[in-house]
Amino acid sequence: MRPYDTVIVGAGPAGGRAGMELAKAGFSVLFLEKRDVVGVPVQCGEGLSEFGLRTAQLPEHASWIRERVRGVRCVLPDGTDFTVSIPGYCIDRAKFDQWVVQQAVDAGAKLWVRTKAAAVRRDDGGWVIETDRTDPIRARTVIGADGPASNVARWAGLLGQRFYVKAVEYRFAERDWSYPCDGWLIFYFGRKYRGGYGWVFPKASFYDVGVLSSQNVKELMDGLCAELKVPLDRIHKKTGGDIPIKYVLSSLAAPGLAIVGDAAGVTNPVFGGGIHPALYSGKIAGQVAVRALEQEDMGHFREYHRHMKASPYFDPILWKTADLFASWDDAHFNFAGKVLDHRDTRDTSTIRAFGRILLRQPRYLAETRELLTIKRGLSLTQTYGW
Ligand SMILES: Cc1cc2nc3c(=O)[nH]c(=O)nc-3n(C[C@H](O)[C@H](O)[C@H](O)COP(=O)(O)OP(=O)(O)OC[C@H]3O[C@@H](n4cnc5c(N)ncnc54)[C@H](O)[C@@H]3O)c2cc1C
Repeated sequence: MRPYDTVIVGAGPAGGRAGMELAKAGFSVLFLEKRDVVGVPVQCGEGLSEFGLRTAQLPEHASWIRERVRGVRCVLPDGTDFTVSIPGYCIDRAKFDQWVVQQAVDAGAKLWVRTKAAAVRRDDGGWVIETDRTDPIRARTVIGADGPASNVARWAGLLGQRFYVKAVEYRFAERDWSYPCDGWLIFYFGRKYRGGYGWVFPKASFYDVGVLSSQNVKELMDGLCAELKVPLDRIHKKTGGDIPIKYVLSSLAAPGLAIVGDAAGVTNPVFGGGIHPALYSGKIAGQVAVRALEQEDMGHFREYHRHMKASPYFDPILWKTADLFASWDDAHFNFAGKVLDHRDTRDTSTIRAFGRILLRQPRYLAETRELLTIKRGLSLTQTYGW
């Protein structure tokens, strides 16, 4: 049997977006997806920015929009807050993933669900993919879009270390519990979250409450639920999973192979958002694979690695910002809250407010550099974060 031009392991947003490029260019594409149904079960808070969608060159579609949001309202331990405005959506992730993958299927891609890739190896200038229920499949190129476990990268010998955090989320029906989000995603910060945060997301007739942290996620979730007085006997749905914060790969690509999305650790380490980076990396990997297949030169895959490493998703300021958040105590968070004082991080008067506070409380001078780093990290996050 002729090899597929591309086998994509994983039909999430990263794989789906890569498949769109390849199938639309006329190449034979096969998705291998271990789940019974694409996107189900959902393991996501489902926040996505308009910018993320635009950058992925995807139109918005009523079928997967649950609610439009203005951005993130950050609440500090003393109750002060500020906003990080970036318009976006709370989406229905299952419908969104299905819609993205369907664009590729409509362009001719094949989708095999309930089919788990078990190994990927080089063979005769191409690749062989073994699965749990088919004969080995041959492909000219492979896209590893298999999420945080990153097995394709491991099989290809690219994966070094994985650093990730855990997240859990409970859903409540509006009739059982509601929260005044006023069109914002609400994030709660504090020392106890160790660089993570608690959240409340509005989802039309539902509210999702969640926690992301490097440790004690269950205890933190219990604490947040108690603070917010959610009715724990009325949980509509539970979800959770791993969120890559930093993956060490020797390269994001090899000749004829690219690792995309969570599998490549491409998330924003500040807030942990990964849908936008998944779509973006999938799009770039798909375009590079099209060039490689058209010109029969698998060396083009190096362009994907170079492109991603030079992109804002790999800007070191993001990890510096995430590390600073992880090192802060409540007093630091409260100070940031005082500086921003209900304003938005885009608001330039923040700098003037910062100056005013320093005049009154010069002991915070030492934190100036940290705050400026965080401001830069947050501006990048504002655009590329989710
Ligand atoms: C609780 C939680 C909340 C989150 N909230 C947000 C949020 O609000 N906004 C945001 O931007 N990001 C959020 N994220 C992160 C976001 O969900 C991921 O970054 C995103 O799903 C990455 O997309 P992906 O396509 O790379 O991987 P995935 O969506 O994980 O897709 C990978 C696919 O590969 C399949 N697969 C895996 N292994 C194999 C195999 N061996 N063979 C065949 N198929 C395989 C899986 O079944 C899956 O369908 C959250 C994550 C969690 C856990």
